[in-house]
Amino acid sequence: MASIFAHAFTAYALSKGFSEEIKTRKFWLLGILCAILPDADVVGFKFGIAYEDFWGHRGFSHSLVFALLLGVLIALIFYTNKIASKTGIILICYFSICTASHGVLDAMTTGGLGIAFFSPFDNARYFFPWRPIQVSPIGASKFFSIWGIKVLLSELIWIGIPTGIYILVMHYRNKKTTFNKPNDQNTK
Ligand SMILES: [Zn+2]
Repeated sequence: MASIFAHAFTAYALSKGFSEEIKTRKFWLLGILCAILPDADVVGFKFGIAYEDFWGHRGFSHSLVFALLLGVLIALIFYTNKIASKTGIILICYFSICTASHGVLDAMTTGGLGIAFFSPFDNARYFFPWRPIQVSPIGASKFFSIWGIKVLLSELIWIGIPTGIYILVMHYRNKKTTFNKPNDQNTK
């Protein structure tokens, strides 16, 4: 895994690409939930589920199918009356992308097994050829160590900087669109 902070920050950054009406606090908080939820699969270790199993860590819960299902489910539960509209499609896309971003980041980490992106159709585990992110330990006790510091530093460089730039670009773009929009405030 990448750390919970990296997954959460990525979901928050992704929300910045959406319109002002849609990106409420509820919207990005649910996005963060989607981005961190796949790692709930680590409870499987306590029940004897092996890492490489279908329900194992980085298995089905990290797949693209799971991302789509979770995206639909979250939109259905929290935006029931918008689900059958264009906004509903946008919401499903955002929540699914946030969930899928989890596997994408994990596939760029230096350790563990790969990601079952295509589960349940293909349960093979995949990594990207380029893996600059230091893998995060499983369990909070191990995280508060030199290992944890190394993880945060590598995430700051490889996730924090690119997503930070994305947030800035989106902020600038939105400001520009608001400024160019002819409304009462600008025409008076
Ligand atoms: Zn993970």
